[in-house]
Amino acid sequence: MQSFVIKNGRVIDPHNGIDEVTDVVIENGRISKIGRFSSSTSSSSVAVTGSDQGPSLDASGCIVTAGLVDCHVHAYQHATPLGINVDRSCLARGVTAVVDAGSSGSGTFSGLRRFIKDQCDTRVYCFLHIAQHGLAAAGCVAPGGGGEIDSLNVVNVQDCVDTIKANRDMVIGVKVRLAVDISDSGKNEQEAYRRALLAAREAGVPLMVHHARSNVLQTGENGALGCPGDLEPGDIYTHCFHGHYGGIVDPATGRVSDACWAAKRRGVLFDVGHGRGAFFWRVAEQCASEGFWPDIISTDLHTQCVEGPSYELTCTMSRMLHLGMELKDIVAAVTSKPAQVIGKLSEIGHLGIGMAADVTVLRIDDISEDLEDVEGAIRSVTKAFTPVAVFREGKQFEILEGRRWPDPEVREKLEGIAASWKLTDANKNATEN
Ligand SMILES: [Zn+2]
Repeated sequence: MQSFVIKNGRVIDPHNGIDEVTDVVIENGRISKIGRFSSSTSSSSVAVTGSDQGPSLDASGCIVTAGLVDCHVHAYQHATPLGINVDRSCLARGVTAVVDAGSSGSGTFSGLRRFIKDQCDTRVYCFLHIAQHGLAAAGCVAPGGGGEIDSLNVVNVQDCVDTIKANRDMVIGVKVRLAVDISDSGKNEQEAYRRALLAAREAGVPLMVHHARSNVLQTGENGALGCPGDLEPGDIYTHCFHGHYGGIVDPATGRVSDACWAAKRRGVLFDVGHGRGAFFWRVAEQCASEGFWPDIISTDLHTQCVEGPSYELTCTMSRMLHLGMELKDIVAAVTSKPAQVIGKLSEIGHLGIGMAADVTVLRIDDISEDLEDVEGAIRSVTKAFTPVAVFREGKQFEILEGRRWPDPEVREKLEGIAASWKLTDANKNATEN
């Protein structure tokens, strides 16, 4: 038997109630023990050297967790404008599993499996877009351009359900984006949302909703659906810290809306989904002050934000640490919680004995940096998570140097983008008033 020991790290596994300095023993690609290792108690005859070479890794001063899960990324590289290389931007930065958030729909899904999942070392799951072509041509939500639900002809419930049922190993939910810019000026939002809910319920999977700059109100009125008002327990409200109109902080009170609190209490999950336009310090701080923490921490990594302002999962985790979220809750939000939400706790998300040995070793470094958000606002951040080592099924992969963050040049570009958002939001408000 081949064994490998990750020694002396602070092992944090919220799912199994573990938080202690100890060892993680891996045999034949699986977790065989969490506890002090001695060669006599192992079936292995290999001596533990205590060096980085050979059968052990000294994780003193580090945190050891189940392999990190990023529950919102765009992985469909070369086939969609938003797709990134997940082995480079995720696995090589400590993330062993990603969930693609709707890059493919029923008509384009097979390529996501064949050209991405089957070719990558990172585990790839996905939400299937309710639009048959997914995000084949769609960019970010922004003034101008078109979107994936500009026509309802491509929003087909049965095709979506059939594809999910035939691919349950990989497809774990349905995705829809509700935004005026991508839905024939808002005309199709209600119907696309209704069909996405139908598909998710018929397939028995969660719905992930992007809801920003949308005409869909939080609580439905006169027969119209609301978001998150009509989401059910287990559904996911992503981009929860966006500061565009329709966000979770009610502008009338300056507090998290009653509809969002009610949704959280009944079991709707709130996901960060940082991206290029969905992490505003001012919104996240208001939520933190009310104890409204995200259930899932994710990056929404895509081509328009992987070079900043989202950068990588450990950056988004560092933002939550700065806001005062508890360390064990941060770890849960990038391991067991997303694994549970996507129904894959038997495969990923914790360090139970016999589980595939997906393991991440992290350090918390002291830093002194002004970290920008998506509108260029900065906060002085003093701690940063840094990936140190990563294993998938017991195989160690190299940690490659990440994109340096924060970056003052990114901040300058963001201020320009944020100015255009403000113009659009002002027009919206002028139309309403
Ligand atoms: Zn996204």
